Amino acid sequence: MPYTVALTGGIGSGKTTIANAFAALGVDIIDADVIAREVVEPGTPALKAIVQRHGDAILTAEGTLYRARLREIIFQQPQEKNWLNHLLHPLINARTQQLKLLAASPYVLWVVPLLVENGLQHQADRVLVVDVDAETQLQRTQQRDGISLSQAKNILAAQASREQRLACADDIIDNSGKPEQALLRVAELHQCYLRLAATGKD
Ligand code: ADP
Repeated sequence: MPYTVALTGGIGSGKTTIANAFAALGVDIIDADVIAREVVEPGTPALKAIVQRHGDAILTAEGTLYRARLREIIFQQPQEKNWLNHLLHPLINARTQQLKLLAASPYVLWVVPLLVENGLQHQADRVLVVDVDAETQLQRTQQRDGISLSQAKNILAAQASREQRLACADDIIDNSGKPEQALLRVAELHQCYLRLAATGKD
């Protein structure tokens, strides 16, 4: 299994921007959000199981998972959330392990927005947190997604706090400055991770 650096951070902190910088250095990226969508794509056993349980109303007209409806169901019926987690977690884990084994770079960057919320930090050799203050998060998220301040605040409130995230960090990228500054830090951390991966230490 390759040396795994988990990258996390709150919404709008700069995870995508930072992951792209690691990718440009030749690091293989494994994106937890992409995997979570993959395992319920049309034609997958997981989507079939969800339709068996909740009926065709859980599909959009295009035959994809109607996420908003599923969110509503699990919000109202917590046992359905457990059922879904039991179904999806092993599939997500298996796919993650498979992608790690296929990776060709000396270490992999595993991008997991909800690492701390889902208690996954121990599944990585190292945890890297992209950090900005809440005000910057709100401003960049609003700008990127064209949403209101209160919508952005609601998303932030549903996530782990800055303190909770930083408490899990082995390394931190302060992304409050110019992108170029963060890129210098990425280059520095890349050298560090190459060394750690070569010696197998954390
Ligand atoms: P995340 O993936 O964590 O939600 P993004 O990487 O999409 O965050 O960054 C959020 C927004 O902020 C994007 O529009 C991005 O271009 C912008 N951004 C990222 N880093 C910086 C920075 N250092 N300075 C200014 N804007 C930034």
